[in-house]
Amino acid sequence: MPELPEVETIRRYLDRTVLNRTIAAISGTVPTIDPEHLPLLSGKVITGIARHGKFLFADLDSGSSLVLHFGMTGDLLLVSEEDPDPPYTRSVVSFENGSRLAFTDPRRFGRLGWVPGREAFVAARRLGPDALTIAREAFVAIATGSHQRVKMFLLDQHRIAGIGNIYADEILFQAGIHPLRTLRELDPVRLFLLPAAIVHILRTAVELSADFDQYPDTWLIPHRSRGERCPCCGETVDRVMVAGRYAYFCPSCQK
Ligand SMILES: [Zn+2]
Repeated sequence: MPELPEVETIRRYLDRTVLNRTIAAISGTVPTIDPEHLPLLSGKVITGIARHGKFLFADLDSGSSLVLHFGMTGDLLLVSEEDPDPPYTRSVVSFENGSRLAFTDPRRFGRLGWVPGREAFVAARRLGPDALTIAREAFVAIATGSHQRVKMFLLDQHRIAGIGNIYADEILFQAGIHPLRTLRELDPVRLFLLPAAIVHILRTAVELSADFDQYPDTWLIPHRSRGERCPCCGETVDRVMVAGRYAYFCPSCQK
């Protein structure tokens, strides 16, 4: 599932490829643009590519934005005029120069829409600060005294935006925190160090273009399955259900 590093990698791809292009038309079948909004998009120029948490925005010269959420399996691919649509294409943004941006999504949980303003959208969704740049003071202010389990807290997009199941496990592994701990139970030093772990892991993942094959072998992610060994101490990696999904962790390194 695309989390912050994957969406940021797509943002950088779009920043290199579709900036300043003029939208000619948008077509598609699955939950995409409200047909009434289509006239608001054609003829508009993409002036910037932004991201907040797992949402991606193509800002337009009209002041409005095209917003995308990648769901479980969404992706974007720029194809040239003569290329066919890639498999599982659900929507296509056609540009005046003939190229097309294909929104592919085998599982169909992705969304593509028009919003009058990016910042108003983020506020209306009550998204927390973006995890890639969250400041320590902001994190501590949100987290201190919370009865939430730390794993749930990291996944809660209203608290911090962008972290999903896989990176939450990595953050807790590197911070040495058991996924079932509540924030109130954490000693102040661990709570103080947690935002640095978040930013470090997400930045490293973005630098490696969210390519799992390049992640350090000292990370949990390459060992995140049953029967694997902890890369730090050799203990068997365990898992526990949190919010209906498995949290993988090392029972000896994470307390
Ligand atoms: Zn361990």
